[in-house]
Amino acid sequence: MTNIRKRALVEFASHKPQRFHVEERPVSEFFGENVFDLEKMKRYLSVEAYKAVVDAIELGEKIDRNLADQIASGMKSWAVKMGATHYTHWFHPLTDATAEKHEAFIDPLEKGGVFENFKGSTLIQQEPDASSFPNGGLRNTFEARGYTAWDPGSPAFIIDQTLCIPTVFVAYTGESLDQKTPLLKSIQAVDKAAVAICRMFDSNVSKVNTMLGIEQEYFIVDEAFYRARPDLMICNRTLIGHTAAKDQQLEDHYFGAIPNRVMAFMKDFETEAYKLGILLKTRHNEVAPGQFEFAPIYGEANISVDQNLMMMIIMKKIAKKHKLKVLFHEKPFAGVNGSGKHCNWSLVTNTGVNLLSPGKTPRTNLQFLSFFAAVIRGVYEHHSLLMSSVASLSNMYRLGGGEAPPAVMSIFIGETLTKLVESIEKLTSKNLTSISDKEVKMRSKLHIVNQIPEILPDNTDRNRTSTFAFTGNRFEFRAVGSSCNVASSMFILNGVVAEQLVRFKELVDREMRNGLSQDKAMMKIIRQFLVESRDIRFEGNGYSAEWQAEAEKRGLRGIKNAPDAFKEYISDAAVKMFESQGILSAREAEARFEVLNEIYVKKLQIEARVLGDLTTNHLIPTAITFQNALVKNVQGIKELFPDEFSDLCATQLRLIKKISGYVNHLHNDVHNIVEARRVANRIEDVAEKAKSYYETVFPHIESIRTVADKLEMVVDDELWPLPKYRELLFFR
Ligand code: ADP
Ligand code: MG
Repeated sequence: MTNIRKRALVEFASHKPQRFHVEERPVSEFFGENVFDLEKMKRYLSVEAYKAVVDAIELGEKIDRNLADQIASGMKSWAVKMGATHYTHWFHPLTDATAEKHEAFIDPLEKGGVFENFKGSTLIQQEPDASSFPNGGLRNTFEARGYTAWDPGSPAFIIDQTLCIPTVFVAYTGESLDQKTPLLKSIQAVDKAAVAICRMFDSNVSKVNTMLGIEQEYFIVDEAFYRARPDLMICNRTLIGHTAAKDQQLEDHYFGAIPNRVMAFMKDFETEAYKLGILLKTRHNEVAPGQFEFAPIYGEANISVDQNLMMMIIMKKIAKKHKLKVLFHEKPFAGVNGSGKHCNWSLVTNTGVNLLSPGKTPRTNLQFLSFFAAVIRGVYEHHSLLMSSVASLSNMYRLGGGEAPPAVMSIFIGETLTKLVESIEKLTSKNLTSISDKEVKMRSKLHIVNQIPEILPDNTDRNRTSTFAFTGNRFEFRAVGSSCNVASSMFILNGVVAEQLVRFKELVDREMRNGLSQDKAMMKIIRQFLVESRDIRFEGNGYSAEWQAEAEKRGLRGIKNAPDAFKEYISDAAVKMFESQGILSAREAEARFEVLNEIYVKKLQIEARVLGDLTTNHLIPTAITFQNALVKNVQGIKELFPDEFSDLCATQLRLIKKISGYVNHLHNDVHNIVEARRVANRIEDVAEKAKSYYETVFPHIESIRTVADKLEMVVDDELWPLPKYRELLFFR
């Protein structure tokens, strides 16, 4: 048997460019054809049923069970016509993956034969046997039931002849076992708090939507190489592998021409995405070789999250057709950039106003500043929780790497807004106590806003090193990992903002009761919020060592490791925020904390096992084979030149020793990692166990890699068993 790398190289070399079916219709003709959207509902539902869905979406009203039957029937007619044979409640358990259990539409007829059946009760609720989803103790074994319930806010869609119905997933007790439930609750919390403020400006505002645009980075590798790397296959990242001589240092990949094979793949998945009603807008090469990005046009957060997860599913499926593999892991390759999922976030009213877009008039600017200040204040208050929301084993390999956002939160707002913020802080700080004084009145806040009738923050004024950046009309949270379900970060962001919006309104009301005009009261609180959160604002280079030191001085708590970060979920401040905003109960927060720790342990355990296998069964034998060749060579030379051999074989002898050193080191490290696991596995408490894994198992993962990569540099290329970085990262 030749080694698996060689077989993969042969397979790769024999890969012939294929012609794929391309959709010839213009996109506008097939856009959304696989989605049961409002337009289709109009055609398939009675007026009454259609109205019920619209009211559910827009007003959050419950759908009557009778109407649900009508809706289900219409949905089924459409789906069956589209060729669907099955349906599934599609939900987002606490694993970052999506879950689906398919049921056929068919039911038997009494006298033989079948008919397609889909009842309202089935549409609305299911009870999947889902006792093996992570639940953090929320489902005792004696009451392990969980329910999925239809989310009418996100349209049903068809993938692989299966009608997928987006649902929430909750325990028997109503506690959430998924990512969608808290996200929906957080969207409601923001809506309620934001509307209350908006109505102080415009009584027509009845709803504020959380908007989200997700930029998704990902890697692509050839499937043959992927299959030849157990680490990629099982852990989605390379646990070992020396960097290639050339990777991203010439910066020739970013925005470069997209390789043909990748282009064919992109066109293919874009077509499917369009059919699913996903507004894909941009595609390009990312910084690292083999790395790419797509971004759809932003939309309502709930739908954006669902669509992002749908994209991840279809990309994996389509890649297979092209003999490619998509890697969503945050750091599949050491030494080159990792992947994130930038979350572009804003708030938009039902009247069409983006609350984070600086306005043209003083009054709209006052509204903008209210929201702008509340976001900054909220992010400051819970900076550590927000950072923790992105913590995972995989994302920790990426964060703070001098290419990805640092592991500490900071907000970049750009030069224009910095000047504005500074002037707000200055103008009122001295005179705050006597804000109603005549003299101060002249220089009061409205006046400040008057001076700046139109704020035009420069859109190109970008700071890529910032964790959380204001980019003209939205905030962009860049630390979120590429493999995760962003809902877990978004419900926290929504929660912390909602909390401050509520506080903002309370404080403004109090000032008004004390005699200040509405505008002045608002300006006073805006100023207060900005002053309070001054420490979170940072315009410099987030990658620099100086910033790390400075952040610490400012008391900004970065995340040092994932298990430590998870604790933020159950901190008093977090639980207070979750509960007051109706997003999670203390028990639900605790459950998530447990699940996060559990997943961390399991993933690290898997990495350790794979690494043990790679080292013991691939690397050490390869090292010994090569070493044997060297020994033979030395013996041969010794026979030929008995007197001179030690001079002639100096290099070989050094290598032989070096390899022995590496082999011993690897062997010991593998032994130690097994021991460390054994000890850690005995720990009952899952948080303690995660901590132990981090402290005792994790260091070996790194040290094995260091030695394995050195070994790769000395062993005969012919013998090396795993596809190398240059093979994985560069393909045409
Ligand atoms: P860049 O890489 O420069 O940040 P992209 O065009 O790749 O920009 O992605 C920007 C994302 O932000 C897109 O998904 C876009 O639709 C989204 N976006 C633009 N404006 C808003 C907004 N007001 N609110 C939320 N998302 C927005
Ligand atoms: Mg961006």
